[in-house]
Amino acid sequence: MKSNGNGKSATAGKSNNKKAEKQNTGVTSEQLQDFFEDGLKDLYWAEKKLVKSIPKMIKNASSPELVDALKSHLQETEGQVQRLEDVFASIDTKPVAKKCDAMEGLVKEAEGIMEECDPGGMMDAGIIAAAQKVEHYEIASYGTLAAYAGILGHVEAVSLLNQTLEEEKAADDKLTEVTGSAVQLMEMENAEH
Ligand code: FE
Ligand code: ZN
Ligand code: FE
Ligand code: FE
Repeated sequence: MKSNGNGKSATAGKSNNKKAEKQNTGVTSEQLQDFFEDGLKDLYWAEKKLVKSIPKMIKNASSPELVDALKSHLQETEGQVQRLEDVFASIDTKPVAKKCDAMEGLVKEAEGIMEECDPGGMMDAGIIAAAQKVEHYEIASYGTLAAYAGILGHVEAVSLLNQTLEEEKAADDKLTEVTGSAVQLMEMENAEH
């Protein structure tokens, strides 16, 4: 049995020890719950940010494959905002957005790339690189939150978060596929010169 780190427990009876253990467990899951809710708020902000940012990527993209991939993921992202609201509801919590510094940085980086590149293959390649960083951040975040939800016994949240996790993975794969069309575009541009 693990010591509870409390010097007083040495003199405590069996029932007191049990109580101390219960309290320890309680504090831990409460902290995990806080962490979980914080993560949801962070992602809620991040997804809303993306609903505003992906259209800028679409506007700057050239290859029809990339435009299609971004458009369909924009639609999915709108659904993910809604799905996070369902996650909040499933744990009887109001949906609150809390600024995600990481997503703000990733979007800033994407905007920087788009400012530097002329439209065409290079721009497309830059957008794909930036967008894949976004997808990987989301995959990490949803993966962690789904795991926490599982530990906390939030069954409905696990299923909702995993649905979005799968969409993010598929979006990332799609972007990898589309890289070929950006490279083709660059080759065509080079041939013209
Ligand atoms: Fe997303
Ligand atoms: Zn964040
Ligand atoms: Fe960077
Ligand atoms: Fe995404």
